[in-house]
Amino acid sequence: MNTSPPSTRQGTGQEQFLTILSREDALARFEAALFPRPAQTEKRVLSDTLGLALAEDVAASVDVPPFDRSNVDGFALRAADLAAASQARPVRLTLNAESIACGTVPQIPVLARTATPIATGGPLPRGADAIVMMEHTDPAGAGAIEVRRSVSPGQFVSGAGSDMARGEVVLRAGTVIGSREIGMLAACGIAQITVVRRPRVAILSTGDELVQPGEALRPAAIYDANGPIVSAAVTENGGEARFLGAFPDDEARLEAAMRDALADHDVLILSGGTSKGAGDVSHRIIGRLGKPGIVAHGVALKPGKPLCLAVCDGKPVIILPGFPTSAMFTFHDMIVPVLRRMAGLPPRIDAQVSARVPLRLPSELGRTEFVMVSLVQGPEGLAAYATGKGSGAITSFAQADGFIRIEALADHLPAGTDAPVTLFTPQVRVPDLVVIGSHCVGLDLVFSALSASGTSVRSLAVGSLGGLAAAKRGECDLAPIHLFDPKTQSYNTPFLGDGLELVPGWRRMQGLVFRSGDPRFEGRSVEEAVAGALADPDCLMVNRNQGSGTRILIDQLLGPARPDGYWNQPRSHNAVAAAVVQERADWGVTIAPVARAAGLGFIPLTEEHYDFALVSARRERPAMQAFLTALQSPEIHAALEQAGFARAG
Ligand code: AMP
Ligand code: MG
Repeated sequence: MNTSPPSTRQGTGQEQFLTILSREDALARFEAALFPRPAQTEKRVLSDTLGLALAEDVAASVDVPPFDRSNVDGFALRAADLAAASQARPVRLTLNAESIACGTVPQIPVLARTATPIATGGPLPRGADAIVMMEHTDPAGAGAIEVRRSVSPGQFVSGAGSDMARGEVVLRAGTVIGSREIGMLAACGIAQITVVRRPRVAILSTGDELVQPGEALRPAAIYDANGPIVSAAVTENGGEARFLGAFPDDEARLEAAMRDALADHDVLILSGGTSKGAGDVSHRIIGRLGKPGIVAHGVALKPGKPLCLAVCDGKPVIILPGFPTSAMFTFHDMIVPVLRRMAGLPPRIDAQVSARVPLRLPSELGRTEFVMVSLVQGPEGLAAYATGKGSGAITSFAQADGFIRIEALADHLPAGTDAPVTLFTPQVRVPDLVVIGSHCVGLDLVFSALSASGTSVRSLAVGSLGGLAAAKRGECDLAPIHLFDPKTQSYNTPFLGDGLELVPGWRRMQGLVFRSGDPRFEGRSVEEAVAGALADPDCLMVNRNQGSGTRILIDQLLGPARPDGYWNQPRSHNAVAAAVVQERADWGVTIAPVARAAGLGFIPLTEEHYDFALVSARRERPAMQAFLTALQSPEIHAALEQAGFARAG
């Protein structure tokens, strides 16, 4: 990546070496360059203010309620008339010739020893000072009632202005408008308020390789994930997001786009192109856009080191790292506080829980590291599993419940540590069924059936052995495994141990894959195909990682041979298929459904057993029963067969 010599960089007039700042220093410099700043405000109709911050104090312009009001259905009267009333000596009151409903202006005064029927919300008539409830009276012939208890003056009456008095400040500047605040303001008759205007944020992705979702993916291209995520995260944090599209790494075009964006937005957020690669141009442009320019480029964060923070003539300009997970982390950690402050919103409060870390978490010394984790309920509380597949993986963010922060001075977190987990949601959502182990696309078919019937599932792909260990610790219900035991020449059962039982899953045909029509493989037996491949020096293979069941098969096929491509050892069935499709390899070994989906030729080798280690202590749980039922169902069998899997047994 670091290809440009320092001299060319200095020639642009910008300080562009990655001077790594601590997270705290970077944030402090960014905030110092931006704040204090006057809030941008605007008047809005009440119904359009949800989630915005009030820019100024609001005082009630009328009394609420505007008149003395009855709180119950009953009779308006004078308390003094009932001073001597009791069960034994009821007091008789004559009824006035009107009845006060809501919205009725009383016409007849309540004189001594009279009463006027009044509904909840009705205005108190002249002369009355209390209400007696309907239930506490008895009819006493035409036009009269009897009351058998005394009342105190003011009983069941809300005085004018008792809720909000005219002139009283009812909401302070800075209050975030929710439905309750809208209700208060509406009750005062306020139709418009002055709020802090949402910062207008322009979002722009950079990279020659980017294609927008919905369009066809050309070779070597990837879909633009950052554009949509950053736009959504801006909206979530009080900004008005406007996505301007993805731009190629072309300095002139990018500069024009950035200038346009800054002209009518308050904030500019780019992603990608922030490293020191030859094609990384955006940070060079920033220096020409306004003062003071870049305040931090390179922050001791992991993920997120190449983050670039700048202020151009009062407007924040940010370049997020290209990898979506890095982009999101730095956005939430470093940009959200600034964005919320510009929007007049209070700092976000993230809920925290404590969880045990079952597996050692390595960490880079010198960088504050954020490790995304999924939470599961273990026998002694929550356990946190890293969801990370590296900063390039978008799933690590989407599937995580929260993150653990490892300080810059630690190089790992030991297994068994209790660590605080900052949640992405207000509460931990514990799933009904937890499945930890080896993942298979067939499993998704079972899970779909479960979610359709209302069972929530958490599935963590940590491999067969990792799943077994989690099952033994009681952290999951099921561990999907496909482990071959060469000693007994059998799958899975030899690995179970105490407390676990085997639930048969399905069989996955393993086979040799090649591009259809390749004469070296088409129509040949496995032995012929492998012999031919080994004899052809131009034939390139793709292997699998050590420890995978497929690797055991490949090693059996090859014997002592180490053909070209042997050291290319991807970790998944899909990566093998992609390598062959894209002609980075000519053959490999993968499972039939993956080969079929990729349109590859397939020579069957052997069936792999994909089964479940079930934690016996959890067998009777409803979610487990739902899983077992789904697994047995004819619909699931049909769907699995349709996808290329064979039923076990
Ligand atoms: P860069 O910082 O431009 O070198 O990008 C680092 C990595 O992030 C590369 O693998 C890019 O393809 C990837 N990347 C950059 N921008 C995006 C984006 N908008 N969506 C998804 N991946 C991206
Ligand atoms: Mg790029």
